[in-house]
Amino acid sequence: MKSVVIVGGGQAAMQTVDSLRREGFEGGITLVSAESWLPYQRPPLSKKYLAGALDADRLFFRPEAFYADRDVTLLLDTRVTAIDRVARNVRLEHGHQGGHAGGHDEGNNEDDNEAGHKGNRNNSLPYDALVLATGARVRTLEVPGAQLPGVCSLRSLDDADVLRSKLANAGSVAIIGAGFIGLEVAAVGRELGLAVTVIEREERVLPRSVSPIVSEFLQDVHTRNGVTLRLGVGVSRILGETEATGVALSDGTEVASDLVLVGVGVVPNVELAQAAGLACDDGICVDPHCRTADPTIFAVGDCTQHFNPIYRRKLRLESVQNAVDQARVAAANLVGRKVVYSEVPWFWSDQFDIKLQMAGLASGYNDIVVRGRRETAQFSVFYFDNNTLLAVDSVNRPADHMAGRKLLSAGVQVSPDMAADEDLNLKDLILSER
Ligand code: NAP
Repeated sequence: MKSVVIVGGGQAAMQTVDSLRREGFEGGITLVSAESWLPYQRPPLSKKYLAGALDADRLFFRPEAFYADRDVTLLLDTRVTAIDRVARNVRLEHGHQGGHAGGHDEGNNEDDNEAGHKGNRNNSLPYDALVLATGARVRTLEVPGAQLPGVCSLRSLDDADVLRSKLANAGSVAIIGAGFIGLEVAAVGRELGLAVTVIEREERVLPRSVSPIVSEFLQDVHTRNGVTLRLGVGVSRILGETEATGVALSDGTEVASDLVLVGVGVVPNVELAQAAGLACDDGICVDPHCRTADPTIFAVGDCTQHFNPIYRRKLRLESVQNAVDQARVAAANLVGRKVVYSEVPWFWSDQFDIKLQMAGLASGYNDIVVRGRRETAQFSVFYFDNNTLLAVDSVNRPADHMAGRKLLSAGVQVSPDMAADEDLNLKDLILSER
């Protein structure tokens, strides 16, 4: 195989580049990203970066030299608009920003005129193998006023820059959605001194990710830190004539705010794959090798749906773990090693002084055990299905999180009594299995 083209510029794309070279792949690698930045980390965007505690330079996985040293061609500010599976090439559309690695394109370099024409200059790029790492985009809110200036979302570095400057000039923010984005931005908003209201249509925060015990704990943390939570209520429209001035809720009340942030989830970018005739079902369908139905095309990260052998169901995971591990699997298979994806999902979130870490998937459980004490803000919740451990959510207990990941991936039997027994060192269970 002579050349691999990677579509996307996020964590999964970056990891594919890195893993391919580590696997000893010596052919051409081209990374095509619609963004004008070098691949960067997203997790800090709603945490330290938004709070102004981390410079943009620290977001980039690697400097430009890393790609040059590995003979990787970066096509930034360039969009793949179609895949021709018969001819094995992708159609490219270059952006208008002059695509630059690393920093912002200030728009004042000598390429400006050329960049201005790039939007019309389409061409194609051949591949022997293609990796789709197209990620996901924010779900939009379908209510009147959602397009008003002052309604923000947060997915990209550019989004984070816009939100950061707006937060700096606002006294209040209304956040729609109590998912990870909503809660992390709420914490940053309070730390910056803003009045923060979070609106969630379910009765509790993080309804899809954690159990009521953890939701209630987080609700208490946010409330104690001055966040106003409006749970179990929908949004009927965004208020304002020329810019957002607040949110009208389905119960007839209104929340006035200088700024509105919408964090109501993401949708996978599957359109390219779909148009190329590849199977998609809430994500690009991949086999255990991260390969699509076309043997020359792989897909990795947030854009994919896979059958998870640990949880025995189809999953689309939105996480760093999944992006990294799927990329490693795809790279290994690209060089001919038959590696299968079978990893325990894990996630984390930082909110105020809380580090929430989640190992496994907390759904379908019929028993719960709490290890540690909620009052000390150091506890873990173990989820069981008929005595089989499914997941562990840890609050400020990183050792439990690591143990949980290891127990789950090794398939070690842990009973609810064992999980609750603080005198039992969970690490010993893993060691005794070896
Ligand atoms: P999310 O975690 O999926 O949460 C979205 C929340 O918004 C859900 O609770 C959802 O409830 C709620 N919602 C949906 N429609 C709503 C409406 N009309 N009104 C009020 N609430 C509504 O998504 P996110 O917070 O937007 O994050 C986006 C992506 O970034 C996800 O992939 C997330 O995993 C990732 N992210 C992860 C982290 C982390 O892992 N720490 C941090 C930031 C972002 P329903 O469940 O009922 O739809």
